[in-house]
Amino acid sequence: MKRLFKSLKFHIFMVTFLCTMIPVIAIGVIATPLFKNRTIARNVTMIQSQAQLLTNQIRSTGYIEDPTIDFINAELVALGNAYSGRIVITDSNLKVVKDTYGVDESKTMLWDNAISALKGNQGVYTDDENDVVIVTVPIYSLKDATQTDSNSQVVTDSTTTDGSSIQKDSISNIEGVLVITRSIADIEQEASFVENLVTEICVVLGILMIAVSLFVSRKFSTPTDKFAKRIHELRETGSAHEYNPVYTENADVLDEFDRFREKADTVEESREAFVSNVSHELKTPLASIKVLADSLNSFDGAPIEMYKEFMTDITAEIDRETQIINDLLSLVRLDRTGAALNIESVSLNDLVENMLKRLRPLAEKQGVELVLESFRPVVCDVDEVKFSLALMNLVENGIKYNKENGYVHVTLNSDKSFAYIKVEDSGMGIPDESIPHIFERFYRVDKSHSREIGGTGLGLAIVQEIIALHGGEIKVSSVLDRGTIFDVRMPLSFVAKGEN
Ligand code: ADP
Repeated sequence: MKRLFKSLKFHIFMVTFLCTMIPVIAIGVIATPLFKNRTIARNVTMIQSQAQLLTNQIRSTGYIEDPTIDFINAELVALGNAYSGRIVITDSNLKVVKDTYGVDESKTMLWDNAISALKGNQGVYTDDENDVVIVTVPIYSLKDATQTDSNSQVVTDSTTTDGSSIQKDSISNIEGVLVITRSIADIEQEASFVENLVTEICVVLGILMIAVSLFVSRKFSTPTDKFAKRIHELRETGSAHEYNPVYTENADVLDEFDRFREKADTVEESREAFVSNVSHELKTPLASIKVLADSLNSFDGAPIEMYKEFMTDITAEIDRETQIINDLLSLVRLDRTGAALNIESVSLNDLVENMLKRLRPLAEKQGVELVLESFRPVVCDVDEVKFSLALMNLVENGIKYNKENGYVHVTLNSDKSFAYIKVEDSGMGIPDESIPHIFERFYRVDKSHSREIGGTGLGLAIVQEIIALHGGEIKVSSVLDRGTIFDVRMPLSFVAKGEN
């Protein structure tokens, strides 16, 4: 269920559906009371103008004094029927002189709106409980009405906040009040008809929109479903049907996915190559040990010198095996705990000097001269142990792959931001085609020669990894039979990965 709510299909469905339904429902909710109020207002205006005519007739005929005038009574009854309501006329003391319902005649009408009408106010009162609207109108005396009609200065209208108008100068000349009650049940009926119509439209539209939204959501989500299917196919079988993404976004994701897959393939290939290289490298010394041991076993009564010689070879193979395992462990540790560098501010001058001191015996044994040239004191943020190991590998290579009476020249320099360490040798050099590969694990230019001098093919991979962990760079340039230069550039201040 949660999956459905989070699906693209569901979201498209909801957006399409709600975008149509919300405005329709909102219009319905706003329109119905608006319609009702407008209809009531229109009717009130009609009643008021009708009342005006009626008060003229009442005034001109002196109906309040003589409420038996037939044609007015007939008119009042007709009007009452037309409004499905009641018409009441009072005199200036609010005594009812005419009630079309005939129930309140001769009684006094003590109702706020009637009292207010006596003060010259027209009133409109809506009684929602009984579904009626009541209009009260003052009836002016004939004399005053003539004045009112002939001289507009005598009668001044002003409108109160409730919409009623007050004829202030005529208050003393009001001879009665006309009260018209109009049933608004028919208006309510019309309003509820509109309400029902809106509800029906909403229901029909709702059903229609469910269908439309389902169609639209399917239409828009199908390409993405196909796209997901294709990725699934690719993952399961490694190949997929021809597929042209409909949306640019899908095409972009597909491109990214293909690139990711290529990268994953490369990683997988290099992992497989690495595992097979490791197995091969580890098997080689073991195979030699086995051959040596078998040979000794096959000689009955072999001389002790022969045993000694074979055992020396076996020890050398074991040392080699140990060396490979140690290098592999260093690499694995770097991969795993790469982030856990023990960074300190270290004097690279001291670090390089100490490292060269340790390598001097090896250099002397090979007849190689070791030279350090420091241009200035350089203090750099490094993990001393790891960085020493990297530099040691570089200088050791310079010694190992050198010639008789050759040299290894180490230069140390810096600027404001970086330390520069150059390891230059006068050795055999590296062929151009091998240069791009020398940092790969187990890569050796001349396998037999490298093996002879104890190389595992892991040294430069370790160097590169350590330098990269420090945020540094290493470059190599080499001329065959002339020598090789490794240039290392290290940031003086260490910045952990992910920090700026
Ligand atoms: P190894 O343990 O075999 O020395 P490395 O990873 O340190 O492995 O080096 C990879 C290969 O690069 C070496 O086998 C060697 O052929 C070549 N190489 C490295 N350093 C030098 C150098 N200074 N001069 C010539 N060849 C080198």
